[in-house]
Amino acid sequence: MPVTPDDATLMDVQQGGRCFFCDGPVGAKATVDHLIPQAYGGIDGPANAVLAHRRCNQRKGDRLPTGEELDRFFALRRSSRLGVWPPLQALREVADWSGDTERWMAVAQAIARER
Ligand SMILES: [Zn+2]
Repeated sequence: MPVTPDDATLMDVQQGGRCFFCDGPVGAKATVDHLIPQAYGGIDGPANAVLAHRRCNQRKGDRLPTGEELDRFFALRRSSRLGVWPPLQALREVADWSGDTERWMAVAQAIARER
């Protein structure tokens, strides 16, 4: 379930036409950033994606989202059909995962399989 053009339009409206990371105007040049990178098993779908400038997307690279980014993502999705991928919820609930990304991803993938 990749991000469809309809999903991207809705994401653009919900983000107010702004980049998720720097809050600058981005519009049609937006790229899809996976909050949990696909390299870590993140799904390719709107429940795990935001719109961002290409440069902001590249700067983020393959890191997990920060607590502050997760808070903003959840606020955006509070009443949206686009939803939230369950491991993002799990990530938000874990206070201290930062030292061990691999172990955390194993937990997240187990949660994703369960639902
Ligand atoms: Zn940006």
